[in-house]
Amino acid sequence: MDQRINSLAACPVCANSARNLFKEDPQWPSYRCSDCGTVFLDPMPDAAALAALYTDAYEGAATGYFSKPEKKLRRSRGRIRLLRKFMPSPARFLDIGCNGGFMTEAAREAGYDAWGIEPDPVSISYARTHFTQCHFTEGTIEGFSPTNPDGAPLQFDLAYCSEVIEHIPEPASFLAHVHRLLKPGAIFYLTTPDISHPRRPRDVTAWDGYCPPSHCIYFTPKSLTRLLGACGFSVIRKQIAFKPGIKLIARRDDRPDRV
Ligand SMILES: [Zn+2]
Repeated sequence: MDQRINSLAACPVCANSARNLFKEDPQWPSYRCSDCGTVFLDPMPDAAALAALYTDAYEGAATGYFSKPEKKLRRSRGRIRLLRKFMPSPARFLDIGCNGGFMTEAAREAGYDAWGIEPDPVSISYARTHFTQCHFTEGTIEGFSPTNPDGAPLQFDLAYCSEVIEHIPEPASFLAHVHRLLKPGAIFYLTTPDISHPRRPRDVTAWDGYCPPSHCIYFTPKSLTRLLGACGFSVIRKQIAFKPGIKLIARRDDRPDRV
């Protein structure tokens, strides 16, 4: 069964159709958009291919993934200290792709009403078992619509999404859902590999950030900022990254929801 979707008509970030071959591959060739510099697979993996990959990835790593939990919590607390400067607690926090729940727990410790969402059942089970005072949901953001007791949509003041967006074939749709879940003025912390970073190995296959088809879209700081702008977010801070990664903080604009 071919698990690839039809060729893309245009760049998933800027909709430009001009592009150059970036990396040849018999199954998963990638292209660089001539306009915005985003690198993307074409064809993209379909939902079944992504689901299969995702499960395999977690099964393969199951024994070691949540080793050193104290170290993971310490690192998460450091990131929460940074985020508190932009959105002090108490406030409502959401980790999109929360894995074992370490960042969610660090947010709870810091006084946030802490929520996490994650499609992998093993990870979410770990999170629920270990961090019982947080709210965890198994699933993806597309189907996530929490409500207040009165039935009104529940929105968040602060969202965290680390090393997730490079797995998403339709990032604009993903960001529209993030926008829907955040309050106007909310803070959004986002990380992803940086294909344009000076320290990225020249041979892209030697770079651990390049792993098609699991990673199907590769941003530059500029192209990610552009996409965020188009989806109703303003970048307010870019962190300096010594490794080839993008770390930025954006604010949800006061425009109406786009979904
Ligand atoms: Zn583009």
